[in-house]
Amino acid sequence: MINERMFGLGAEPSAIRELFAYGLARKAEIGEENVFDFSIGNPSVPAPEIVKKTMAALLEGDPVALHGYSPASGDPAVKNAIAQSITDRFGVPADPAQLYLTAGAAAAIAISLAALSSPGDEIIVNAPYFPEYKVWIESAGCTCVEVPTTVPEFQLDIAAIEQAISPKTSALIINSPNNPVGAVYSRENLEALASMLARKEKELGRPLYLISDEPYREITYGAEVVYVPTIWPRTLVCYSYSKALSLPGERIGYVYVSDLMDNAREVSCAIAGAGRALGYVCAPVLLQKTIAACVDVPSDVAAYAANRERLTRGLADLGYEFVEPQGAFYLWVRALEEDAQAFSERAKAHELLLVPSDSFGVGGWVRISYCIAPEVIERAMPAFAALKAEYDA
Ligand code: PLP
Repeated sequence: MINERMFGLGAEPSAIRELFAYGLARKAEIGEENVFDFSIGNPSVPAPEIVKKTMAALLEGDPVALHGYSPASGDPAVKNAIAQSITDRFGVPADPAQLYLTAGAAAAIAISLAALSSPGDEIIVNAPYFPEYKVWIESAGCTCVEVPTTVPEFQLDIAAIEQAISPKTSALIINSPNNPVGAVYSRENLEALASMLARKEKELGRPLYLISDEPYREITYGAEVVYVPTIWPRTLVCYSYSKALSLPGERIGYVYVSDLMDNAREVSCAIAGAGRALGYVCAPVLLQKTIAACVDVPSDVAAYAANRERLTRGLADLGYEFVEPQGAFYLWVRALEEDAQAFSERAKAHELLLVPSDSFGVGGWVRISYCIAPEVIERAMPAFAALKAEYDA
């Protein structure tokens, strides 16, 4: 007998991947230039040259040392480099022992959930949210409690989160800059969250943790991205180099248990235990060592900023309603009918691949991923115009 839930997850790809696969097939059929694929968040900016140079130099070194296991939580020298960078950038103490290197933010979040919760607990997510959160939460035996964010700002709705917190709540996942909306939570919003959490912790007599999912931390257009542990010490930062250094296929990131929390050592030990239990040990060593040398290399956001400008200007001129993105590389656009799935299907007829909002936990919107070649946006504009005209007619 196989596990039915796992069978279901394997048999049914995510809406994003399904649309992406459709796009690949369609491109083969009618030509790449005729399909406007806004489905997936694969960075279009190449990894910085220093990444390639570092990897090449590492490959010239001792292969036995390079390709061997590191300790389960990562190479100590790599953890030192990341901890130093955290201290330099955010002015907080960071003990390398509090870092656990992972194959991307995905593994970091799954480990954090397993470490912080027991089966039957509740985890709060803020909708719209990255769909895999629900899969990882349920895999930890927990319930995913969805709380809508405020519209039209898409900030955390503190009163609604307070209402949703129960004696079973063990953690909340927050994601800023946000996928799919592009919102960045303001300092004021996060401070209000922290004071509410402090009150609820007292009331419930149990710790409430924040899992801060930060793969888009570096992809911003001027907004302040607050370092969450300085606002709420009971924070686990789940970071990734997938978007920051355009390395999504290489699978490298980390969980950092903030030194500012009173029980940091205990939580760190649970992280190590969860990594062990899930088999997420010894993140790819070539990438660990590459990161040690590239930890402070800035992200190149110029191409995303230009695409954001190109796309928002074009869609505004056509009369589409959308959320002005402050970060990440996604545009959240109001569907032209209530049923986002139906709207996405009608867009498909114009070769526009837009992800319907339902799998992000809300109806009525689509997500446009703009980490793509600028020409695709330019060429797609007549299709967006024809789609709008169809609804206006
Ligand atoms: N969290 C969010 C919000 C994401 O958008 C993604 C990937 O797109 C991930 C986590 C997973 O990132 P990684 O490639 O680091 O596993």
